[in-house]
Amino acid sequence: MLKDDYPIEPYRVKVVEPIKKTSREEREDVLNKAGFNIFNIPAEKVYIDFLTDSGISAMSDRQWAGIMVADESYAGAKSFFHFEKAVKRIFGFKHVLPTHQGRAAERILFETVLREGDYIPNNIHFDTTQANIEYRKAFAVNLVADEAFDPDLKADFKGNMDIGKLENFIAEKGTDKIPLVMMTITNNSGGGQPVSMDNIKKVSRICKKHKLPFFFDACRFAENAYYIKTREKGYENKSILEIARETFSYADGATMSSKKDALVNMGGFLALNDGDLAERLQNLLIITEGFPTYGGMSGRELEALAIGIEEGLDEDYLAYRIGQVRYLGDLLDRAGVPIYKPVGGHAVYILADRFLSYLPRDQYPGWALSVALYRESGIRAVEIGSVMFAKKDEKTGEMIFPQLELVRLAIPRRVYSVSHMHYVADAVNSLYKKREQIKGLKITHQSPHLRHFTARFEEIK
Ligand SMILES: *Cc1c(COP(=O)(O)O)cnc(C)c1O
Repeated sequence: MLKDDYPIEPYRVKVVEPIKKTSREEREDVLNKAGFNIFNIPAEKVYIDFLTDSGISAMSDRQWAGIMVADESYAGAKSFFHFEKAVKRIFGFKHVLPTHQGRAAERILFETVLREGDYIPNNIHFDTTQANIEYRKAFAVNLVADEAFDPDLKADFKGNMDIGKLENFIAEKGTDKIPLVMMTITNNSGGGQPVSMDNIKKVSRICKKHKLPFFFDACRFAENAYYIKTREKGYENKSILEIARETFSYADGATMSSKKDALVNMGGFLALNDGDLAERLQNLLIITEGFPTYGGMSGRELEALAIGIEEGLDEDYLAYRIGQVRYLGDLLDRAGVPIYKPVGGHAVYILADRFLSYLPRDQYPGWALSVALYRESGIRAVEIGSVMFAKKDEKTGEMIFPQLELVRLAIPRRVYSVSHMHYVADAVNSLYKKREQIKGLKITHQSPHLRHFTARFEEIK
C-alpha cells in the first residue's frame, strides 16, 4: 500500500506558491528561445521543477521566524554564533567559515591548497568541484568503486571509494602531488548513492597513514547518515546526529552547500580543524566573500541555516524524504522505465542511454531526454551525462564520454506532494512509450568550463 512505501509528510502546509501549466505551443516556443537548454527556461514556464534539489527547499515556520529576529550586524552578529554553534554541534570541527554557497567554499579551499598539476581524489567529483580543481590547472580524479557504474546492481553503498584504487593512486602519484583527499556524501554525480561508515573509516585510515588531509563534500550528510542508520549493521539504534558526528570525526574538514541538507535557499560553509589552514582560508574569505562572521551570507541566512540544519536531522523528515524519492523511482521502475538502482537519496536518475538506446552518445541522449520531457509535460530535469562531463582527449582529440548517461529528477525538500510524483511518473512513462520520436542534438555554442549551464543546441533532423 501507498502508506508503507511512502511515509507521509511530517508537516502540514501553511503557505502555498501557485504553479501553472503551459500549453505545448508555448513550451515549443520557450525551447527554441532557450537554445534547447533547460537552464535557459524561465522558471515561470516550468510546471514541475526537478532541475535540482538545491536551494529550493521549503522553509519551516521556525526558520521564517528566525529570519525576522536575525541579527544583521557586520561583525559578531548573534546569528553568526547560532550558525557556528549549530554547525560545530553536528560537524565537530574547530573552525567554521561561512560562504555564500558550496562552490565558494570549494574555490577558497582549492585556491589555497592546490598547485598546478596536483591531484584531488574523490569518489566522484561534483561538477562544480571538478571545475574548481581544473580551473586551478589541477586534476579531479574519481576513484569510486566500480559497482557505482552498474545501474542494475542492488548494493547498499554504491558511493563507496575503491580502497585499492585510492592506495594505488597515492603510491603512483606520491603524497606531494595530493594536497587532500575528498569524499562526496551522498555521491551526487553517481546516482545519489550513500557511502558506508566502514568505507569512511578505511579512507580516513589511509589518509592518516599518508598524512593527507581528508575532507568531505558534505552537502547531503544527513541523507547519508539516514542510509547508514537503515542499512549498516551496528547503527540501527544510533541517532542521525550521532552518526553525523561519527562521520565527521574521521575527517579533517568539509565543504558544504547548505542549499541541500541544511534546508535553506542560499548558503554554505567550510569547516576544518587545522588552525593554520583556517587562517589562510580566512584571508581569502575576507577578500572575496566577506568578514568572517558573515562570509557570503546575510544574518537572516545564517539564522535560517542554524535552524534548518537541525531540522534536517529529524528522522521522521528523513524517512519521508528518502521515501518520497524512492516512491517516484518505484513508479517508474514498475512501468519498465530504465532507472539507476537502487534509487538514491535526493533524486531518481533515468538511464538515458537505455531510454534512447538508438541515439549515439555524441547526440547527447540525456540532454535530448531532458528536452523531450519539458516539451511533453513541462517538467524540468537535468542531464548528468555527456554535455556535463564529456571531455576531449588532449592527445588523440577523441571525445571521452562519462560512463553513465543520466537524467536526474531531483526532488526539492518539503516542496512537492504525492500527486506531483504521480504526474511526473505518468509523464515519464508515457514518453517512454513513444521514445522513438525523440531527436538527437548537436551543440552550436559552448564555454570551456561548466558548459552545460550556457551551451546552445540544435535538434538533428
Ligand atoms: C550542490 C553541490 C555542490 C556545490 O554547491 P553550490 O551551493 O551549488 O555551490 C558541491 N558538491 C555537491 C555534491 C553538490 O551537490
